[in-house]
Amino acid sequence: RLRKAQQQRFAPAVSADGEQISVMANVNSPEDVLNAKAQGCDGIGLYRLEGVYLSNKMVPSAEELYSYLREALYVVRDQPLVIRLLDAGGDKRPPSLSLPDEPDPFLGLRGIRLLRENLDLLKTQLEVLAKLSLTMKVTILIPMVTLKEDILVVRRMLQDVVAEKGYRQVPPLGFMVETPAAALCIEQLLPLTDFISIGSNDLTQYTMAAGRENMSVSSYYIEHHPAVLSLIRQVIANSQKQIPVSLCGELAANKQHISSLLRLGLRSFSVAPPMIPEVKSIIRLCRVKESLQV
Ligand code: PEP
Ligand code: MG
Repeated sequence: RLRKAQQQRFAPAVSADGEQISVMANVNSPEDVLNAKAQGCDGIGLYRLEGVYLSNKMVPSAEELYSYLREALYVVRDQPLVIRLLDAGGDKRPPSLSLPDEPDPFLGLRGIRLLRENLDLLKTQLEVLAKLSLTMKVTILIPMVTLKEDILVVRRMLQDVVAEKGYRQVPPLGFMVETPAAALCIEQLLPLTDFISIGSNDLTQYTMAAGRENMSVSSYYIEHHPAVLSLIRQVIANSQKQIPVSLCGELAANKQHISSLLRLGLRSFSVAPPMIPEVKSIIRLCRVKESLQV
C-alpha cells in the first residue's frame, strides 16, 4: 500500500477521462523546494522571492541572488520553474527597501508598481533570471499587473539585459492576473505576454473589497464567490487557446472547487507543497471534458 501511494505521488495527474493536468508547487524558500520535490511536484509554479529580501538587512546583490536560486532550484533543475519578481509592498515590507508609509498599502506601491519606482532593483532580478535561464527552464512572472505599461517596462528591460550580456535567448515572460482590471481587460494584455498565472488570493481580496489579512471582514473574503469565479472563467476562456494559463492562489488546492476549475478549462494548478498528493488524487477522480457555466 505504501509503495502504491509513493508511486502515485510521483505519477502525473491524469483525469478520469484521460487529460494530463499539471500540479506544480508554490514555494517561499529552498526548504519548500525540497518538500515540493518530495511531494511529486510537476515543477515550481510560483517561486516567491519576498523571503530573500525580507530575511536580509541589505538588498541581495546579483551574485548573491544567483547563487541562492541556483542552489535552491538544483533538485528541480529539469522541471519548469516560474520565478516571480519581488512582490513587496502591501504587508511585506523588507527593512532594506525603505518603503513609503501609505494609507492603503494593498492599494498602493506594491509588486510591479514598486519595481517601476526602483528600476535598479528590477534590473538586478532580470539579470539573475536571464542568466539562470541559460541552464534551467526558468520563466519570469510579474506581480500585481494592472496596466499594459507594467508588462512593457519589464519586457523592454529584459530584452536590453539579454542583449547587453550577449545571451542567445530571452526567457518567457508572464504576469499574475490578480487585479480585476487585468482580468476584465485580459484580451488587451494577451499580446504582451507569453503566459499568465491567476492569483486568486489577491483577485478575491480586490474583487470582494475585503483585505485578505483582515479578520474582521473574513466572511466577505470568499474565494469561490460567483464574482470571483466569473472573472476566472472569463480569463481562462479568453486566454487558453493562445497562451499557457495556470492558477496559483489557495483556490487551486480547495477540494470543493478543483473539479469546477477543471471544467472551466484550467489545466495547470500550483499549490502549497503538502497539498500536491491530495490535489493530484482529486484530479484523478474528475472528468474534465464537460464544461461548466458560471
Ligand atoms: C495570489 O495573490 O493569489 C498569489 C498566489 O500571490 P500571493 O499569495 O503571493 O500574493
Ligand atoms: Mg498575489
